[in-house]
Amino acid sequence: MTTPLVEVKNIKKYFPIKKSLFGKSTSYVKAVDDVSFAINKGETLGLVGESGCGKSTTGRLLMNLLEATDGKIYFEGNEITSLSENEIRKARKDFQMIFQDPYASLNPRMTVKDIINEPLIIHGFDKASRMKRVKELLEVVGLNAYHAERYPHQFSGGQRQRIGIARALAVNPKLIIADEPVSALDVSIQSQILNLLKDLQDRFDLTYLFIAHDLSVVEHISDRVGVMYLGKIVELADKRELYKNPQHPYTRSLLSAVPLPDPTVKRERIILKGDIPSPANPPSGCTFHTRCPLATEICKQEIPQLRQNNEGHYVSCHLV
Ligand code: SF4
Repeated sequence: MTTPLVEVKNIKKYFPIKKSLFGKSTSYVKAVDDVSFAINKGETLGLVGESGCGKSTTGRLLMNLLEATDGKIYFEGNEITSLSENEIRKARKDFQMIFQDPYASLNPRMTVKDIINEPLIIHGFDKASRMKRVKELLEVVGLNAYHAERYPHQFSGGQRQRIGIARALAVNPKLIIADEPVSALDVSIQSQILNLLKDLQDRFDLTYLFIAHDLSVVEHISDRVGVMYLGKIVELADKRELYKNPQHPYTRSLLSAVPLPDPTVKRERIILKGDIPSPANPPSGCTFHTRCPLATEICKQEIPQLRQNNEGHYVSCHLV
């Protein structure tokens, strides 16, 4: 059996929100609460859920931008959760991030050349190879070498996201964590960026964790999809299996909002009651019970475990 490129084991991230008289934290936002998954080399794992479900925090934990409260993350079999600052900096060569907002994630005072140069300088590339690499990367992402001297405000949203992708690719990473990379873009541009990411994956043998709030975006690019709700993965399966045979009531409600390719076919929309509860005060038992149309008494008392009920199809629900 091959070792997955990334393994996340029982990872937790609790943010303290309240302190006692003696400065000890007494209350926490459980942003990520006991999440486990693996990503194989060359695969794209989509991570989906409403805003505040913990998907972006999971991405930042993988990038080591946040310190985990508990649990471990392995990259190519080596634990990366307990590395020193210096070791993290070196290890980050292998995993890079593409951010949601192409307007906010690029420094407006830096030229495109300097933006792409930044990771190259950190990882010790000399000046001549940096110049060559910047030109190469701009062409790889569908821009031109003459764009190198321009500033971010001189580009459209889609072009800026291409610059962000070029920056992420600069040091030849193995894993890219794409945090809602197309959410801020027009629909027509979204598919161009998704196609670019797919082409780059084939060309450079990349592995992706693709984070989105929209199941229709994730369908296009993912091999497997994990659905998160209030800091936990509630369903994880092969993409085709998940879209054909969703098991968790939350996944079913998310899927019911995805338009079908055939406009004459109507899907019954499942509207959830209420808002997503606060992760600082999550409901008892199954945290989805306050909104679940199928909830029973046991759901309020017992936390369902994420169990495999079909080959590679994991669900956390007492009724499945
Ligand atoms: Fe709904 Fe109960 Fe299943 Fe949770 S465990 S998803 S509340 S049926």
